Amino acid sequence: MAQPAPRVESVLAGRDNIIWMIATGPTTFAAVDPGEADPVSDFLTTRQATLSHLLITHHHGDHIGGIDTLRQRHGGQVVGARADAGRLPRLTVAVNDGDRLPLDDTLTAEVLAVPGHTLGHVAYRVGDALFSGDTLFGFGCGRLFEGSPAQMWSSLSRLRTLPDATRLFAGHEYTLANLDFVCALEPERTELYTLRQEFIAITDAGGLTLPHPLAMEKRFNPFLRADDPALASSLGWTGTDPVTLFAMVRERRNRF
Ligand SMILES: [Zn+2]
Repeated sequence: MAQPAPRVESVLAGRDNIIWMIATGPTTFAAVDPGEADPVSDFLTTRQATLSHLLITHHHGDHIGGIDTLRQRHGGQVVGARADAGRLPRLTVAVNDGDRLPLDDTLTAEVLAVPGHTLGHVAYRVGDALFSGDTLFGFGCGRLFEGSPAQMWSSLSRLRTLPDATRLFAGHEYTLANLDFVCALEPERTELYTLRQEFIAITDAGGLTLPHPLAMEKRFNPFLRADDPALASSLGWTGTDPVTLFAMVRERRNRF
């Protein structure tokens, strides 16, 4: 049975981290990657709410920094990859690929192992929402700190199989910076400039470019299109191996 679309709000933290808050009840929320405690506490206090879960995608400090303090102040189960149990603080629910964790009576978080940015990185799928952490960003992907290009391509290929209407909730607001790179990579795709203007208007008004539909990512994100001959030809590359093309594009993005 299809799950309802979760109600999701945002809390900003750090330089450009987004802590997504999933409503799991009238006065409870699940916080995704709470890198800082105070902004989440402010959010919860305003709503007289508590935490049901802290869903962690990976062990980097800007995703886990608030866990200890938030647990003390607001409770909640700390959920993270069993593979990363040694480097995630206060893990109370260790999950594996394919696990389905009930968040409330109707919502379930499905765990997707997506190694590449880090080896233990997981994404969470809740109804029509995908919480991708630092694996998939708007028009980009995370840097390969621990995994190989083949691993990251495999992980992103897996996310690409999710329905077009899936709403993408990434761990950082990087869309515009990534879009600049994509425009430079495929300058002949004029729709990109239109999208860029739309996103600039949203951010100028204080909004976020996320969530947006996965369909948009499938169409424009080069890291989801390493097997697309049109992308290869934009780069003047005549090979056919997607992992090689993925690695080339990632390398260009690193130097952009
Ligand atoms: Zn990270």
